Amino acid sequence: MGWLYAHGAMRTKDKLIMFGLDVEDSCFMCAQTAESIDHLMCDCVYSRRIIQEINQRLQLMFPITDLLGWCNQKTGTKLQKGLQFALLWGIVYSIWQQRNKRRMEGMLQRPERVAKYVIEEVKARLNGRDFRMLTKTDIDWLKNTQLCV
Ligand SMILES: [Zn+2]
Repeated sequence: MGWLYAHGAMRTKDKLIMFGLDVEDSCFMCAQTAESIDHLMCDCVYSRRIIQEINQRLQLMFPITDLLGWCNQKTGTKLQKGLQFALLWGIVYSIWQQRNKRRMEGMLQRPERVAKYVIEEVKARLNGRDFRMLTKTDIDWLKNTQLCV
């Protein structure tokens, strides 16, 4: 799964320190806590704001403190699961991208803007899809989430 792959590949500060590198350990985003993958993806105020914003905009309920646990849930239709995974992947990717941008350039986009970008990317996946092939359940879900109006 993408998330687990990313989990291993992301060189967060806690790992660098474990390898013996002498780096200051605080999170690039909030500067309040030591950086680890768990902190970045579940606990950081910045990341939480992105997830909250996506939940609000799409009327979804991604558990803010347990994205990974959510991954293992098996609810929803194939289409719903696919799109939620795409959203989740977008969240993880964007957080990591923002974290690196902050590290390299000292810049950080507003969480609202990042959330909007993640949603737009997922919406783009629906372009060109033949909606006549979808079930009523899926169409209703798409309307509720406003991924498709
Ligand atoms: Zn943080």
